Amino acid sequence: MNNIFRLKRKRSQCPSYQRGISKPLVLIVIALIAAAWFYLNGSGGDSIKKKAQLKTAEVIGNIAQRNMPSDVAGGFHNIPIELRALADNVYQASGIANTHLITTSEGSVLFDSGISIQAAKQIKVLKEKQQGELTHIILSHSHADHIGGTKFWREKNTEIVTHLEYAEEQRYLSELEPYFWTRNRIVFPWLPEKPTTQEMFRYGGVEPTILVDHRDYNFEQGGVKFSVLSTPGAEGADNLSLWLADQKILFSGDFFGPLWPQFPNVFTMRGEKVRKPIEYIQSLDKLIALGPEMIVPSHHEAIIGKDNIKAGMIRMRDAVQYVHDQVIEGMNAGKTVYQLMDEISLPEELALTQEHGKVSWAVKSIWEYYATWFHFDSTTELYPVPIRTIYQDLAELASVERLLEKSQHHFQQQQAVKALHFLEIALAAEPLSRTQEIAALGLRLEVLEYLLERAKQTSDNNYEKDYLRSRINITKEQLESP
Ligand SMILES: [Zn+2]
Repeated sequence: MNNIFRLKRKRSQCPSYQRGISKPLVLIVIALIAAAWFYLNGSGGDSIKKKAQLKTAEVIGNIAQRNMPSDVAGGFHNIPIELRALADNVYQASGIANTHLITTSEGSVLFDSGISIQAAKQIKVLKEKQQGELTHIILSHSHADHIGGTKFWREKNTEIVTHLEYAEEQRYLSELEPYFWTRNRIVFPWLPEKPTTQEMFRYGGVEPTILVDHRDYNFEQGGVKFSVLSTPGAEGADNLSLWLADQKILFSGDFFGPLWPQFPNVFTMRGEKVRKPIEYIQSLDKLIALGPEMIVPSHHEAIIGKDNIKAGMIRMRDAVQYVHDQVIEGMNAGKTVYQLMDEISLPEELALTQEHGKVSWAVKSIWEYYATWFHFDSTTELYPVPIRTIYQDLAELASVERLLEKSQHHFQQQQAVKALHFLEIALAAEPLSRTQEIAALGLRLEVLEYLLERAKQTSDNNYEKDYLRSRINITKEQLESP
């Protein structure tokens, strides 16, 4: 998961209005909370200030949570926030993303701090288990659902442990926030129009005090050995895992993704920088060698059983290696990226769910990781004049009716993507009568619905389905309003 869960209520969507509480009353309450917050920010003691912040965070978090629909984003936000004891000294507060507390006789350590809107509740759940000071907050990576509670948890002497690459990941995710936000809203339409500007909930601002590179970072505290491992490649360049050697427990953040075992997201539709396939394989090798008996991911439940874990990790590693090697072989054999997207699939012994990461998109990403964007397919690739710029002329030459016929023909042959190409040309025609537009949009709706069904029956990839659903909704809106 990513920085998709920063929520700010649009006033018109605020549940308190919908429930008939008067607008002035709500404004007074908000003003009082804000006044208290600013007062405490300016003077009062640290702990009072923190309590006030937490209270405000809880109120706003509750409102945000209530307004999320129940059937999106894998239902992460329907997961209750509750305490789970995973071992004598290991506690988890579940939620959209899990937060973990490891206690020792010389203080406690936190692994991931969850999403900001759930921080207050997760702290309530875990705080009673904390022993002594919070000595370290270890952040698995820079995504918003893993770092949001940091400012609420942090104590005077707490070390913030991140990967060396953390700052760079946080920088670009912050700078490109408007760009990513727009894309995120296509696959997650329940997101508010704009990211929050509320200081308490906004993304970023975490300043690490300990940076971890390939040499890892080990420390012992109260007799517990902590190994913070550099494991880049899965959800970005800044992935850290935490290994408790004596208990053979591995805290993996998003390294394995939300499903077990799964084909990883070498590519993500949201955008983000490349995820290096070989780096990911090397990180997997490092984790396989540890022999974990329990994996604690930061989404969903713990994975248990040495054999199950080993088999899953080996399959994931071999699947990525297989796809990678097939791409290399195909590139060297002079095949195009599209041929390889079509041809490469996992052999039966390496079959993995593609609900999160899709093999054909990994093929394209690996290709572009090695060769970037110029594919030597056409001179036109070099210039900012895409084929779309001649669609209007093509439509004039062919006539909208003939383009629609051709599209229908391909659709009947189950060549849905070719059908879409023809529809894009037809819809670029000028002039385009409303009757022609309705015919083209109606066919587009059928083609998109077919693709959605096909996606469900093949990879069942969540991003593909969400993207297609968004295109279906846009098409329906266009059909209803000229
Ligand atoms: Zn996540």
